[in-house]
Amino acid sequence: MSISIATLGDCLDHAHSIHIRCGCGKQGWLDVERAIAAAGRAQSCLAGDLLTKLRCDGCGRKGRMDMTLHGPHPDGRPASEGT
Ligand SMILES: [Zn+2]
Repeated sequence: MSISIATLGDCLDHAHSIHIRCGCGKQGWLDVERAIAAAGRAQSCLAGDLLTKLRCDGCGRKGRMDMTLHGPHPDGRPASEGT
């Protein structure tokens, strides 16, 4: 069975993490729970939908970021929690 990750709620439910990197050099893990609090579980996490909504903590601009979706570690913890 394959899972499809289409929304922020899917990311949370399946322990997927989103790594974001801005053109200014700032990068880090998106706080999915915080993003859900702001935008709701139904917010699409596809790059074309999500990146336009994210403001960079570093330079304060929107729309300059790239993102990568990461599945969980083999033990089920989110990739954003480290090794
Ligand atoms: Zn930036």
